[in-house]
Amino acid sequence: MHMEYELNKIIKIPVGLGERSYHIITGQGILGNAIEYLVPFVSGRKCLLLTDSNVGPIYAKKVSEMLREAGAEAFIFTFPAGEEHKTLETVGGICSYAVKCGLDRSSLIVALGGGVCGDIAGFAAAIYMRGINFIQIPTTLLAAVDSSVGGKTGADLPEGKNLIGAFWQPKLVLMDPEVLTTLPFKEIRCGLAEVVKYGVIMDAPLFAKLEQNTDKLNGVDLHFYTEIIAECCKLKAQVVAADEREGGLRAILNYGHTFGHAVELASNFTIAHGEGVSIGMSMAAELAVQAGFLDRAVAVRQRKLLEKLALPCKLAPGGDPEKIYAGMLKDKKKVGSRLNLVMPLEIGKVEVKSGFEPAAIINAVRCCCE
Ligand code: ADP
Ligand code: ZN
Repeated sequence: MHMEYELNKIIKIPVGLGERSYHIITGQGILGNAIEYLVPFVSGRKCLLLTDSNVGPIYAKKVSEMLREAGAEAFIFTFPAGEEHKTLETVGGICSYAVKCGLDRSSLIVALGGGVCGDIAGFAAAIYMRGINFIQIPTTLLAAVDSSVGGKTGADLPEGKNLIGAFWQPKLVLMDPEVLTTLPFKEIRCGLAEVVKYGVIMDAPLFAKLEQNTDKLNGVDLHFYTEIIAECCKLKAQVVAADEREGGLRAILNYGHTFGHAVELASNFTIAHGEGVSIGMSMAAELAVQAGFLDRAVAVRQRKLLEKLALPCKLAPGGDPEKIYAGMLKDKKKVGSRLNLVMPLEIGKVEVKSGFEPAAIINAVRCCCE
């Protein structure tokens, strides 16, 4: 049974990681009301609030005031929005500014933004003075349900995305679903691809709930989103707690991602991550059907839900299956030359499989081309 969520209720989700344990706190309006949660971490300390040029003008004032009310000395650093700024140069700029503001080992970094901001802020926190405390305030759905949970931080290199980074857990995550009111719907849709993913990999009732409420999802019903965000964070927290460093179980979170990353790469990143994941899950399901792991009807069910959320399930005309396969082989999650792929067995259940013939993978990709 899934729990009922009261309107405007604050939900606390523990992430159990031994001495690195922390809480995700979510609820509508939390951005103005989190002082009690912040005090233990920020009171009497210097805090560098990192944000991007889209999010800063909307939310930085409110958050910096809240930090000050919680007893922090707050500084703000704004970097230009966009994945192209998720670089070592930005991380270096952040660290230099931190020195200028006098941040020491007891200070902390607060990330206010989407996945890009969280990744580089977390990375800066991991390396500044060999590591300082860090708080995440995700402002995209994708960051809320995915990148802000789990402690992966990093930056891109000219040679590829996320090639450098560190595992660095935050001390606290604050997620206010009201930030979705200013987020472009395209960005919300991208986050929904990850939400659907959680349903397929580990939670059939969640999947059914999404199917029954596509109108609320498309209409950005904040009450419903609060519930969904909390459920997804709980699921991810469960997986991360069982496997912090991706030795085993955590691999299931990569469902659709090996295909999806290759799709993003082949498009020169004109296809966004969430769209790539949606197409990637469709390809993975197709391969699972062809390999005899999955009923066709289940793959169709997944496709129908994705389509109702206006997410793509096929590669646009001109897509080249061989090129996608070549891109998959470059994926950094690959072990040696073997492609391990997360295969759905039914809604709510997946398994990592290997030993696929290249021709079988290429054929599944071809079946997902327009
Ligand atoms: P993601 O979380 O999808 O990995 P980004 O950090 O790149 O990605 O955020 C996606 C885009 O949305 C960026 O341009 C960012 O500045 C913008 N953005 C993030 N959160 C909000 C928000 N709550 N309102 C408006 N724009 C936002
Ligand atoms: Zn993802």
